[in-house]
Amino acid sequence: MLYWPDIDTVLLDMDGTLLDLHFDTYFWLEHLPLRYAQIHALEPDEARAWLHQRIIAEKGTLNWYCLDYWSRELNVDIVQLKEEIAERIAFRPYVQDFLARLRSENIRAVIVTNAHRGSLNLKIRKTGIDQLVDHVISSHDYQLPKEDPMFWQRLQQEEPFDAERTLLIDDSLPVLESARQYGIRHLLSIVQPDSQQPARSIEQFRSIGHFDELSPSKKI
Ligand SMILES: [Mg+2]
Repeated sequence: MLYWPDIDTVLLDMDGTLLDLHFDTYFWLEHLPLRYAQIHALEPDEARAWLHQRIIAEKGTLNWYCLDYWSRELNVDIVQLKEEIAERIAFRPYVQDFLARLRSENIRAVIVTNAHRGSLNLKIRKTGIDQLVDHVISSHDYQLPKEDPMFWQRLQQEEPFDAERTLLIDDSLPVLESARQYGIRHLLSIVQPDSQQPARSIEQFRSIGHFDELSPSKKI
């Protein structure tokens, strides 16, 4: 479905693409509400309902991904709370093999994530994922989330890529849409970003279940 000789750069999302989104879902929907209620001596169910609303209201904005913002707003140390459940951070299946294959085929692999540096560093420490790719970029460094088509323009300055010969793999449909508007030619989504949630059916973009469906090769 992809013609690999046409591709020389692969931009890769991290959470929900290379890593199981379960860690993040569990953190925001379960662990944070529980610990927030404990820390501020609140009733757990009320705290959960309020927090869910509060979090959803920021969806798609840079705040949504910003640990400093949430630490300040909620008066808790988000990075420290994430550390408490760090054993849940895990690769999605076949990711290491896929990244090794890109490397052996001389296809540039760049992680492009909306994750805040605090969360990114924790995940790098737990998985060593930065060692498996050529470069790691956090959208926080540009103050623009990937959902904003301007992000790709800014990325282009740091990481020159030929949009016609670039593949973006990302579980977020709004991000894929923003990349499409910018002109990135090859786009791929992930049907089950969170291993504990049902698979999605995706109409707008081509998608894969797992990375073993892709076999990068420069040979024709
Ligand atoms: Mg993602």
